[in-house]
Order: sequence, then C-alpha cells, then structure tokens
Amino acid sequence: MSASRASRALANANAYAYARSTCPRCAFLRPIRASNTLRATGSKGSQQRRLNLTSAATLAGPRPVTPHKEREGGLRAHHGPRATITHDISELSTQLEGEKVVVGGWLFSQRRASESLHFFTLRSSSSSVQLVSRLKSNSEELMKYPLESVVLVEGIVRTRKQKAKSGSSAVDEIELEVENVTLLNPADTVLPFYPNRPEVANEDLRAQHRYLDLRRQDLAENLKLRSKVAQIIRCYLHDQGFTEVETPILLNSSPEGAREFLVPTRSPNALGQPTFYALPQSPQQPKQLLISSGAIPKYFQLARCFRDEDGRKDRQPEFTQVDLEMAFVEGSAPTAQGGGGDEGGMRSTWGIGGRQIREVIEGMVKKIWKEVKGEELEGWFRVMPYDVAMDVYGSDKPDTRFEMYTLPIGYYPSLSDNDLDKILLDQSPYTVEFMITPAAQAKGLDIASFAGNNSFIDYVRINESNTHSWQNDSVLTKPMGLEMDTSMPGGVKPGDVVWLSRRKKIAEGGWTHLGRLRVQIMESQVAKGLMTLPVQPHFLWITQFPLFTLADEDKSFLAHGRYSSTHHPFTAPMWEDLKDLKEGKVQGVRGQHYDLVLDGQEVGGGSVRIHDVELQEWVMKEVLQLDRGEMARFDHLLKALRCGAPPHGGIALGFDRLVAILAGAKSIRDVIAFPKTGSGIDPVFRSPSVSSDEVLKEYALTSLKQTENLTVKKDEGEAV
Ligand code: ASP
Repeated sequence: MSASRASRALANANAYAYARSTCPRCAFLRPIRASNTLRATGSKGSQQRRLNLTSAATLAGPRPVTPHKEREGGLRAHHGPRATITHDISELSTQLEGEKVVVGGWLFSQRRASESLHFFTLRSSSSSVQLVSRLKSNSEELMKYPLESVVLVEGIVRTRKQKAKSGSSAVDEIELEVENVTLLNPADTVLPFYPNRPEVANEDLRAQHRYLDLRRQDLAENLKLRSKVAQIIRCYLHDQGFTEVETPILLNSSPEGAREFLVPTRSPNALGQPTFYALPQSPQQPKQLLISSGAIPKYFQLARCFRDEDGRKDRQPEFTQVDLEMAFVEGSAPTAQGGGGDEGGMRSTWGIGGRQIREVIEGMVKKIWKEVKGEELEGWFRVMPYDVAMDVYGSDKPDTRFEMYTLPIGYYPSLSDNDLDKILLDQSPYTVEFMITPAAQAKGLDIASFAGNNSFIDYVRINESNTHSWQNDSVLTKPMGLEMDTSMPGGVKPGDVVWLSRRKKIAEGGWTHLGRLRVQIMESQVAKGLMTLPVQPHFLWITQFPLFTLADEDKSFLAHGRYSSTHHPFTAPMWEDLKDLKEGKVQGVRGQHYDLVLDGQEVGGGSVRIHDVELQEWVMKEVLQLDRGEMARFDHLLKALRCGAPPHGGIALGFDRLVAILAGAKSIRDVIAFPKTGSGIDPVFRSPSVSSDEVLKEYALTSLKQTENLTVKKDEGEAV
C-alpha cells in the first residue's frame, strides 16, 4: 500500500482498516471494515489488539526503495537468456570428440601458460574438466573471474594428448576447448575458504559455511549415497507390502526414555499456563496406534526423531530412523510353536518372538549391501543373548571382528576344582572379570597408561615364574585365595598381560570396564598397525535383554530410583518369563527385545510389543511405578489396545549411522546435510537462539534471566 493511499485511509472514517485476518496465525494482512472488526471479534482486549495493528507506522507503508547499485569491478551475475546446458561435466568423454557442448560449473583453477594458452578447471559436484582457452578475449575474461564463480562454458571436446592416470574417469581423457564463456554468478574475491583444496580449513570455519564445504566432492557423494540408500529401502519395503506413513512431528510429551525437546505454543490453557508440543523421540506411539487401527498392517517411515542428549560422541539431537512396525509378528521363539522354518539354523538361535522383523531387516540390509557395495551377505546374521555378550565381550554391542574375551574368573582354564567350587558357592553379587592380551600384541602397547586411566582396572604382566600364580599379584584376585592346577596347561604365557576388573555377576547396562578397555586396545592396535580388522561386515543380533533396569544413567532423570525399561515401556516380556513378571520377580525377566549390531556399533533396535492392555497397564503402574500424570500420557495407547490391537512388533534402524558406515565416514555429521555440533548448536543457522521477552510473552513464558542483563540482537537472535 502506498503512503498516499495510507494517509487517505487514515483520513477517511469509512475507510478499510488493515488488520490481521481472522486466523491469528496467518501473517497476511487483509482489509476489513473497521466497524465490521468491532462486531466480528470477541473480547474487548482482542479488538484492541487487532486495531492496534492499524497504527500510523503500519499505514505509512514501506520506506522508498533505494535503487540497486551494480557491484564494483564490472563483474555481474547474468540474467536472461543463455546457452542451454547440454551435458553434466561427468558425462563428457572421448566419445564426444569434436562435438560442441555447453557445461556449467564452478571455476576451480586458473593458469596462464602463455599469451595464447590458458588452462582452467571447471568443477561440478561429481567431476571436473580441464578447459583450454586459446582466444585472448575468453582467457582474459576467465582470468578475471574469482575462483568458485559459476560459469557457463561453450566449447569443443578434444581428446587429451597426455594419458590420464589409471583409475581416473572418462572425463579425465578429454579437455574442453573454450569457444565462449558466460559468467552466471561471480563469487566474492575472498571466500572464507576454498573447498576441494588439499589444505583443509579448520572444522569450525567449515561448519559455519557448510554450503561451501558441501562443495567438497566427498561430502556431496555422501549425500547422494544417502539418497540412494533411502531409495533402496523404500523400494524394498514397498515390495514387501509396507506402507509409508508420516506421523506427527508436533507431538505430546511422554516419559518414554529420552529427554525431549519442547515447542511452546501461543495457546495457553484456561489457567493461562504455557502449553507445549514435544518433538517425537521416535514415532513409537503413533506407529503402534497405526497398527492397532488395523488400517496399516505393515508400516514404515524414514522418520525424523529428536532427543535432547547433549554432549554425546557422534550423536545428533535430530536424526533419522528407518522405522517400521508389523501386525501379527510372533510372540515366541520359532521353535516353540514350530513356526518360521529353520533356514540357516534361525530357530535354534533367535530365542524370542519377532521372527518376521528379523527376516525383513536382514533382507533389507542384504539388499543395501548388494546394491551399494556389490557384496552378497550369506546366511542368517549371528544371534547372541545379552548375558553371553556381556560375559564374553563386556558389551551389549560387541565388536566380533577380533578376539580377546572378557570373562568371569570362573572361566579361567586352569582353575582347580576346589577354586571352581569356591567361586560357584560364593554368595557375593560381584565377581572379577579377566581379559588376556597376548604377548605379541602387548609388546606394542603402553600397558600402564591404559590401566592408569581407569582406577577400576588392574593388570598383571606374566613372566616365567607367575604363569600359575599371577592371581596372587593382583589386589582383585589375591583375596579370593585361588590356587591354579599346575597339571593343567596355563591360560597364559610369559609376555601376556592379564587385565582384571570387578563387576556384578549378573552384568548390567551396556558395558563392563574390560569391555570398554577391549575396544580401546583394539583401536590403539589398529592405529599402530598391530591389528588388521576383517573387511567383511560383522552383523550380530543381541536378544533377550533384561526387560527392566536400574542401571541406565540415561534414564535416571525419568526413573528417580524406579525401574526403567531397558528398551521402552511397550516391550513384551519373553513369554517364558511372564509368570515371574506377574509374580513381581522383576529382576531377571527378559524382554522380547532385539538390537542389531554392526562391527561393534548399534545400528538398530526394536521389540515385540505388549498388546494386552491389562499387562501394559500393570507394567506401567506397578513395575515402572508411573504416577497418574505420567500414566495419562499413555491414555491413547492404552485405549487403542482396548479396541482390539493385534499382536505386533517393530524396529528402528539408525539411518545416519548406517549411511556413515556405508560411506566409510568417520562421523554421522559427514552424511547429514546440515548437522549440529556435539553440543547441539547449528553453526549455519545459529540455532538455538534467544527470543526477546516480547516474543516469550506471546507464549506465556518469561525468562528467568533479568531482562536488563539480556538484550537480543534482533537480526541475529543471539543473546549478548
Ligand atoms: N522406537 C524404538 C527406538 O527408537 C524402536 C522400536 O522399538 O521400534 O529405539
């Protein structure tokens, strides 16, 4: 609206006033007769608010537009007609010898060989081509353009005289003789850094200018790989009869396990208290409701999930899961009811329900490996119950690519029968676990520094004289009074190192001390070239986790000393343990919970769910001891179970991690377009940011910080 129109509007009592449209969230202004506004709106306060918008400033309209000044130096972005691109740079090859082509890309390098010969490199996200310019006018132009400018080049494809290096691509066999150039968009003369150069800029700078860093070919390739894997997954699951369904991002808070992100709304409740959405930590409840509805017997989604887990190594507050759920999955081991066949010995090892989930996931993973890596993964993936994994590898995500086992001392091979009895009859809830690093590997390790970092770990170096008495050299084993049977071959040889640590007999949580040490030793040995890991992926299912735990630090903020679910509250117990559970013998009850592990990293997890509302309600009330407020957060789920929900189960795979592994990337940040830092900060968009008190008020929120100490730079949203 022009200023003159605005003043006319002010002057005229019957004029249209500009107010917000009737939708309070809609930013569009639309004309409404002032008198109508008075009649149509509710309370006096809200009328006042609406009419306040028709202030003189609003009606004065925008300030006059300053004419645009061209940038200095004569380099301008091109607008209007231009030659049509005929090929992507990656499509150029000797097959096009002599043909005229038009390509677009970023100017990567400039080199003057002589007055009449200049060389340039033009890059796209996947390729680069050498430009040869013999025409003075073109050369002068191209030499003027700042590096990283966007250029359109018309030229003739010529086979290069110099042979390309082996392993290079078809485009390296040719060069483009420049006929004409168009500067589509000049870059600044100095950029924060120059991608695709051997000297890599520091990480912070790259993170802040991610759009520039993404110009690096390997990052671009990672994003393309990510898209390819997503496509394979979608096609595979569609072929298996799954339906992709999007579930809400603005959800409600529920005490499921992880810390949530809250989103304040501008709709306070009747008491004026602020109200919030919570972003989903996973679409767990929506997917169970979908299955309960009967409409979608096989659901999947590439789901965005949000967890407020700050400061975790290689985790992101927002991430993507391949999330799926199926109706009618089995609720017991395939052997129990004869279902499921026994291909590859599946029956003998799986041990719980959810066979259909295992089949779908193994099929999907095999397809991904075949299409991305060209590798056939043979047979069923290995399966290991949780307690075996903890006993033998000291981890619930064991890296099975290398040997070196963490075992309770009772497994030491040359214990005498007497010792064994002593250990078996010992009533203490604790035991000592041991792990042996063989002499050949121990030689290259700084043993003392490994132990020095961890006060829970002791070690004994084995020499000629203590192969059968080393147990007396450790403060952890000496008090046990063990005597080895010298007639038995010793478990150790001179030069070996025996590591020792105390732990609970029934292992808890995700790691034992030696389990962590085992991985640290492996990483150090690999770094020093003392150990080579097999290239073949080692997939492994861990099953039969304890259903409840007191030992999950991540959940203690919710549990407050109560039991928490190892997976989540909807996980079904193994039916063999149901009786114990109902009798309240919670410790030792195993869940129908399965995690998929790849080379020591958890890549997914899921479970068979509780479909029986009575059991679900009882678990929540009596075992997890949720209070009324917490129970109310699950009302809809309990109601859905009451309406006739089929038995069901599902899983979620960490999509970012899976792609990172496939890409050989060190961090999941390398496969996410705009990742956050370890502390959850987005360096490009600079979130999270502070909101002004004025904005907070709209959400019925006030800042605990004194307003006078906190000013918000309006344009940056930063607290200063
Ligand atoms: N929602 C679970 C998770 O995010 C996966 C599942 O149980 O399906 O770990």
